[in-house]
Amino acid sequence: MKDYAGVMVFAEQREGRIHPVTYELLGKGREIADKLGRPLSSVLLGDQLEAEARELVYHGADRVFWYDHPVLKDPDLVNYKHNIVRLVREVNPEIFLLGATRWGRSLGARIAAALGTGLTADCTGLEVDEDGSLIQIRPAFSGNVLAQIKTSTKPQMATVRYKVMSSLPRDTHRNGEIIRKQAELIPSPLTITGKERAAEADIAEAEVIVSGGAGLKRAGDFSLLAELAELLGGTVGSSRLPVDSGWIGREHQVGFSGHTVKPKVYIACGISGSPQHLAGMRESGCIIAINSDPSAPIFKIADYGIVGDLYEVVPKLIKNIKRLKRCNS
Ligand SMILES: Cc1cc2nc3c(=O)[nH]c(=O)nc-3n(C[C@H](O)[C@H](O)[C@H](O)COP(=O)(O)OP(=O)(O)OC[C@H]3O[C@@H](n4cnc5c(N)ncnc54)[C@H](O)[C@@H]3O)c2cc1C
Repeated sequence: MKDYAGVMVFAEQREGRIHPVTYELLGKGREIADKLGRPLSSVLLGDQLEAEARELVYHGADRVFWYDHPVLKDPDLVNYKHNIVRLVREVNPEIFLLGATRWGRSLGARIAAALGTGLTADCTGLEVDEDGSLIQIRPAFSGNVLAQIKTSTKPQMATVRYKVMSSLPRDTHRNGEIIRKQAELIPSPLTITGKERAAEADIAEAEVIVSGGAGLKRAGDFSLLAELAELLGGTVGSSRLPVDSGWIGREHQVGFSGHTVKPKVYIACGISGSPQHLAGMRESGCIIAINSDPSAPIFKIADYGIVGDLYEVVPKLIKNIKRLKRCNS
C-alpha cells in the first residue's frame, strides 16, 4: 500500500488576500487529519505571500508548501495546475480539498483530470468512515437528497462550498513548517481578471444582499434593487431565472447551482422560494421576503414578510432609508 501523507488544502488567494473558504477548509482538514493521525498541509502560490503562508499555520496547517513568483500573483490555471499536480505526486496526500469558488471549481477539475482521480464538486459536508475513507456529502436531485459519495481513487478530491464549514480560531502560537518550493513556469493565457474576481467576491462576502427573481419585469429593473443594496452597503443577487434570461451575470446567482451565501440580511424580491434557491441562502442571518403572492414558499423561511408589489415596496423602502439617513446625518 502507498504511504499517503494526510490532507492537503489549496490556499486560494485573491490579490494577495487568503480567501476565507481556505480557513474553513483548514478547520475541517484539521479535524480529518487528526482522525486519520496524519498531517495537514496547504499549498499556496502567489507573489511575496510569506505572511499569508504563516496565517495558514495559525489556522491549522502543519506544513505549508509555498511557491513564490511574480507570475503566480494572479490566479493562472495553467501554472497553478502544473505546479500543484507536481506537488501532489511528490507529497502524495490521500485527500485534497479546494473551495467551490469559481476559481476552485476550474482548478480542481483540471488537477483531478491530470492526476486521473475522482472529484466531488460542491460538497456541503465531509466525514471520514471507519476505513479512513472520505465521505463527501453534497445535495443531489435538485437538492432533494443529500448524496454520500466515496471515491475509490486517490487522492480523494473535493471542492467545498464557502460558508458551510467553520474555521479554527487564529492561534499565533501554533507551530508549522513553511517549505519554499521552486515553481516550474510555462506560458499561460488562462488568468482570472480582477473584474471577474471582484464580482464573485462581492456576493459571497456581502453582509447585505438584495436579490431579484422572476417577479422583475425587465433586466433594467435590477437597478432598483442595486439602489436599495447600495443604500444598505450591500450587493445584488439573483435567482436563476433572470440569470438564464441574460439579465444579470451568473456570478450573482444564489442557490443550488449558484453561490451559497450567508449575509446578515437577505432581501428576496419577487422570488418564490424554490428548494434550489433556498439551498443557497437559507443560512442568512435575517431573511426579508417581498412577494405579491401570500402563499409563496419563501414566506415559510422569512423572518419578515411583506406581501406586496415589489415595484411599490422597494421604492418606499429606498425613500424611507434615505429619509432616515438624512435625519441621522
Ligand atoms: C438542477 C437545478 C438547479 C437549479 N439551481 C438554481 C439556483 O441555483 N438558484 C435558483 O434561484 N434557482 C435554481 N433553479 C431553478 C428553480 O427551480 C426555480 O425555477 C427558480 O428558483 C425560480 O426563480 P424565481 O423564484 O425567481 O421565479 P418564480 O418561481 O417564477 O417566482 C417568481 C415570484 O415572483 C412573485 N412576483 C411576481 N411579480 C411580483 C411583483 N411585482 N412583486 C412581488 N412579487 C412578485 C411571484 O408571486 C412568484 O412568487 C434550479 C433548478 C434546477 C432543476
